[in-house]
Amino acid sequence: MTQPRILVTNDDGIQAPGIIRLAEALGEVGEVHVYAPDREQSAVGHCVSLHRPLRVTPVALRQFMVDGTPTDCVMLAVRDLLGFRPDLVVSGINPGPNLGDDVTYSGTVAGAFEGMLLGIPSLAMSMAQRGITHLDTAAAIAVRLARHVLKNGMPADTLLNVNVPDVPYDRLGGLSITCMGRRSYEDEIIRREDPRGGAYYWIGGATPSHVPAPGTDFEAVENGRVSVTPLHRDLTHHAVLALFREANIQL
Ligand code: MN
Repeated sequence: MTQPRILVTNDDGIQAPGIIRLAEALGEVGEVHVYAPDREQSAVGHCVSLHRPLRVTPVALRQFMVDGTPTDCVMLAVRDLLGFRPDLVVSGINPGPNLGDDVTYSGTVAGAFEGMLLGIPSLAMSMAQRGITHLDTAAAIAVRLARHVLKNGMPADTLLNVNVPDVPYDRLGGLSITCMGRRSYEDEIIRREDPRGGAYYWIGGATPSHVPAPGTDFEAVENGRVSVTPLHRDLTHHAVLALFREANIQL
């Protein structure tokens, strides 16, 4: 079998420790091609740059920086620059969690989401707590899951959102396949006054908490386990779709 080709991206910029370690580790699995933003793009979500030109700069062998978002990186690489379809897209390793509802804000998850939209098996890798003390643990999990997905394939329209506790590998409590939990957003908007009396705001001041529920990504990482959540492309709520069709809303 020829060597698998892996596209690596992130939302923290090409110089972030997480992507450097990830690309290095995935080198054991296949030929790694890095296309990553030239600077921090955290919480950009699935943003695509439509209103300005994008520049791509080579920085090393098979490593390119793009002055855009993670979505831009994956789109440009797969649809033009690589010249082949990668076998796998891996985004990360983000230095903090992407759990529950926060996946919709995440640039890390968006990189994998774009890979999924392009029909390529995709993984999003994040540290389950703020910190990168044990980045090697997350890198080893990325290798483990990359091997699994390359061998067994992945159902269409699915990506894996992975959060890894910041502990040594032998201290992990195991691995759980989880569902997306729920954030509780409290006291997150902070209003202050500038020196001229005008109001300004900070979003996300307080440490966000979550609704405890069994089987969720939050629960897994609280118990020191790796959380692997399969996310689906289709956001349709099928039960409610039937309900609204039955309601027969007329014009
Ligand atoms: Mn980030």
